[in-house]
Amino acid sequence: MSNVKETVLEINLAHLTHNFNYLKSKVNPNVKMLAVVKASGYGSDAGAIAKHLEKVGADYFAVAYVAEGIALRESGITTPILVLHPQPVNFQKLIENQLEPSLYSSRVLKTFTAAANSLGKKEYPVHIKFNTGLNRIGFSEDDVDHILETINNTTAIKVVALLSHLAASEDLSEKEFTLKQINSFKKITTEMNDRLGYKPILHQSNTSGILNYPEAHFDMVRAGIGLYGYGNDAKYDPELKPVASLKSVISQIHNLESGESLGYNRAFIATKHTKTATIPIGHADGISRQYGNKKGFVTINNTQAYIIGNVCMDMIMVDVTNINCREGDEVIIFDTKYSASKVAENSGTISYELLTAISPRVKRIVIDDN
Ligand SMILES: *Cc1c(COP(=O)(O)O)cnc(C)c1O
Repeated sequence: MSNVKETVLEINLAHLTHNFNYLKSKVNPNVKMLAVVKASGYGSDAGAIAKHLEKVGADYFAVAYVAEGIALRESGITTPILVLHPQPVNFQKLIENQLEPSLYSSRVLKTFTAAANSLGKKEYPVHIKFNTGLNRIGFSEDDVDHILETINNTTAIKVVALLSHLAASEDLSEKEFTLKQINSFKKITTEMNDRLGYKPILHQSNTSGILNYPEAHFDMVRAGIGLYGYGNDAKYDPELKPVASLKSVISQIHNLESGESLGYNRAFIATKHTKTATIPIGHADGISRQYGNKKGFVTINNTQAYIIGNVCMDMIMVDVTNINCREGDEVIIFDTKYSASKVAENSGTISYELLTAISPRVKRIVIDDN
């Protein structure tokens, strides 16, 4: 019998340490490690993850939004925190919590400078983000004059870093494009450095860039997915160990005869004797409806059991006709052996979406093996 008695997400800190040290071993010793802990640490628990990474030596953290940065401060994190995609409406709160903004447009640079000024700040640390091909957020090379003009006209802010983001660093067939992004970042940052008269931290690489593009490491790398090891497939380094395991239990077993239906809208109708298991996890927990009707699966007693019928808000039902199992038995949605990628890809999505959708209703259990 398993010790799992309800739906839980287990977070393995020993694996997190392993992944951090492994990624760190891929960069020069003087390159700083920024840990991306956005979206609740890719669906896990940002506070627990960040506290642990602070202990093992993370130099910086990044989140997407200001509220995520405030939550980290409230959980006691004192390491610098970069906010990748802040909105001007939150600048005052960002400053009050000593978070560092990524400034990505003239509008954002101007409103941030005004906010820092009105709070009486001197040399408040900011990162300037350049677009080198992702075309999502960031200044263009043509904005350099304007950026310097704004910066030289105020003492309220200080540029502590210049960054950019790679679009396809995991895809080696896009090598030419990625090298162009790296060269473009080099060109822009050389000009910025010359004209600023000092050298801010340069950072461009995400996890796949750490593994595939040493030339993109610069002064700091941003590790996200690699820390959590959710990929667990060929795209990523097999050395990375999955940090999170999603487990549940069988609540009840039903035996359907041919012609009987299962679940809402009778989406499954048995054509032969079918044994089903009901599991307490549904779309309100992050198992979206796209996993229903034989797309997604769970693992029971080392055997795949497909989700049949529609996913309900609080439950799924799986086909266990050929599986030896009982009520109360453990159900694995994904763990270190059964990867999140396989479940996700079978349902037409990716492991990041599966992981980051796991709702706060699912209990997080931190396992500290150290
Ligand atoms: C999410 C994100 C990262 C981390 O990406 P991974 O592929 O998970 O390593 C790095 N930089 C930026 C700007 C991001 O938005």
